[in-house]
Amino acid sequence: MTEIILNKLVIIGVGLIGGSFALALRRASLVEHIVGIGRSRENLLRAKELGVIDEIANDLQEALKDADLVLLAVPVGQIGKTIAQISLYLESKTIVTDVGSTKQDVIIAARSFLAHNLRNFVPSHPIAGTELSGVNAANANLFHHKHLILTPLEETSVDAIHYITRLWKSCGARISQMQASQHDEIFATMSHLPHILAFTLMNHVCTIAKGSPSNLLRFAGTSFLDFTRIASSSPEMWRDICLTNQASLLCQIDAYQDELAALRKMLANNDGVTLEKTFSNAQAVRHQWLKDKS
Ligand code: NAP
Repeated sequence: MTEIILNKLVIIGVGLIGGSFALALRRASLVEHIVGIGRSRENLLRAKELGVIDEIANDLQEALKDADLVLLAVPVGQIGKTIAQISLYLESKTIVTDVGSTKQDVIIAARSFLAHNLRNFVPSHPIAGTELSGVNAANANLFHHKHLILTPLEETSVDAIHYITRLWKSCGARISQMQASQHDEIFATMSHLPHILAFTLMNHVCTIAKGSPSNLLRFAGTSFLDFTRIASSSPEMWRDICLTNQASLLCQIDAYQDELAALRKMLANNDGVTLEKTFSNAQAVRHQWLKDKS
């Protein structure tokens, strides 16, 4: 029988990621009682109805009493404020983790407000998600076979890292560790830029169609659908991610514009040979990646 290692879990932000973490831990029988804290009452009521949480918190201090773990799963622009609020009532034994898509900003906030207890703070980022938001989209399988990146501080205790690692492993995730700065650079390229491109393409279509995008979108095929799937993601979440990873993202946008400008030149010059070479290179990199992945 699995041992319950979490008597009380407090989730702040019971949406796609927070809700999926709750469902995965429940399925693994590792958690006894889950308290949800959120913004709209409607989402929390739905979370309770779906069995994602057991209790809706009415009072932060009461919610944090005897908590083994607090999971911060709000948009990254809210994490600093949330850390400041919980710091007033956190007990010394309580471990705190987050799932924010950017890590340096979260660590700055933790250094400001949790300085007395950084040993129990374990920043994390599941490389899993969908374009859907809110607790209705929560899914116990979301983290299965997905990467989970930990960016612990020097002060984070080994015990806290092991505890969080065990929980994420029980959700099916594969764990790696890296510096927060490296994390933010990597995900500017691998996640944040692609989202910006997808949002921009949708707006581009709208502009080209002079504000009547349906005139063009009715001709969209699978390639357009695939490319723009992530433009259905939460604008609030992506606003926050862009602003918190601004420096890395600006570099990525500049570099991408250089690639696009080079391609434009090939096209303007009718340079089919270089165009084909450019596409072949991209195709080969993708083929190799898919082969390595399988
Ligand atoms: P989500 O589905 O929109 O859930 C966020 C939840 O936070 C919502 O339920 C929202 O409440 C609540 N919330 C917002 N502001 C709050 C506040 N000030 N106090 C308390 N609750 C608040 O978003 P998500 O996709 O789960 O993302 C959560 C975090 O995970 C973000 O930091 C994001 O960067 C990170 N992340 C996302 C993905 C992804 O692909 N989605 C992947 C990895 C990491 P309402 O429902 O009432 O608005």
